[in-house]
Amino acid sequence: MSVYLDNNGTTPLKEEVKEVIRQSLDVFGNPSSAHAEGQKARLALDHARRQVAQAVNVRSEQVVFTGSGTESNVMALRGFLNVCPHKRLITSPTEHSSVYNTAEVLKDEGFDVVYLPVDEDGVICLEALDKELSSKPTSLVSIMAANNETGVKQPIQKVAEICKKHGVKLHIDAVQLLAKEVIDFPTMGADSIAISFHKIGGPKGCAALILKNEVQMTSLITGGGQERKRRSGTENMLGIIASGEACAQVQKSIEDMPRLNSLREKMEQGILNITPDAVIVGQNAPRMDVTTCVMVPNTSAEMVLLSMDMAGVCISQGSACSSGRSVPSRVLTAQGFSEEMALAGLRISMAWHNTAEDVEKFLTAYDQTMSRMKIKKEKVS
Ligand code: PLP
Repeated sequence: MSVYLDNNGTTPLKEEVKEVIRQSLDVFGNPSSAHAEGQKARLALDHARRQVAQAVNVRSEQVVFTGSGTESNVMALRGFLNVCPHKRLITSPTEHSSVYNTAEVLKDEGFDVVYLPVDEDGVICLEALDKELSSKPTSLVSIMAANNETGVKQPIQKVAEICKKHGVKLHIDAVQLLAKEVIDFPTMGADSIAISFHKIGGPKGCAALILKNEVQMTSLITGGGQERKRRSGTENMLGIIASGEACAQVQKSIEDMPRLNSLREKMEQGILNITPDAVIVGQNAPRMDVTTCVMVPNTSAEMVLLSMDMAGVCISQGSACSSGRSVPSRVLTAQGFSEEMALAGLRISMAWHNTAEDVEKFLTAYDQTMSRMKIKKEKVS
């Protein structure tokens, strides 16, 4: 089995989730049907919805199941913008592509889209947000709670205060925050948050948008009126049941964070011992306990990743691959890093299943990779 350190990309299923899936394989009814099989499914759906609601401290009616974190983000953006007379969105240049690329399309459709400046850690400028909101009527602010590439957290509580002062709606992409920190939706001050269950030991293709009770918005998918008319389509029953169980494990995952944080410290120290020139992104900002984004000058993340993969260690690169060519990470260049440095960006992200042995194996493979690439400084005897 490889050492899997790409948990911000996706996680394996938790054992408890696998067990619940096994037990639910015969729940086949359509929860909208009035007969016994339908009602069995309805009970399971209601139970899972309560489990998700509990994980973020809301009532069941506030949970809208969707097909991905991407869909949840797009639903929030388009759903809120459609009911607002102003055509202005404020977001940041380091958002996940589900927000960033949607914002770019909205720009083409005639919306005024403002990207807030970020500092070299990727933290947005709150003064700029306040100024932008004072300058023109705005429909929506959309900011991520924690960055998927760097783990850097945004000051969402302060963002919420500023949005409240200006009476502007706020959507938070909390996909990377769930199960890493307590999410208390009622005190966050947001109108909606996106969460996605494959990041927390649940299945892929199942996510949710959590909404304030009284919000007005349009839905992306119209049809049979499921999810209180907010997202039509027969529910992904197995996915939702499994996601409910993944949410029941959230508290346990949060309690495991100090252990993962100390593993990460050990790993980062090891990286710096092997490659003293390495830059750990966001080191001075609040960061999630599980994510390390590191750039080693004069390396190609793609080559490092392949070499690590051959050694049985799965990590990820920040840059994207387009037409067979690596494109520097938009997130890192927005933070002021050169394209060359951004192409060196690696992401290592941990989760509950990682151990001290995994970190040892990672460091051995990293040491071998850097020696092979002649990046490692040879010891002076
Ligand atoms: N937002 C963030 C911060 C993410 O990290 C991701 C997934 O990587 C998403 C949104 C999209 O979630 P999904 O993969 O469920 O579409």
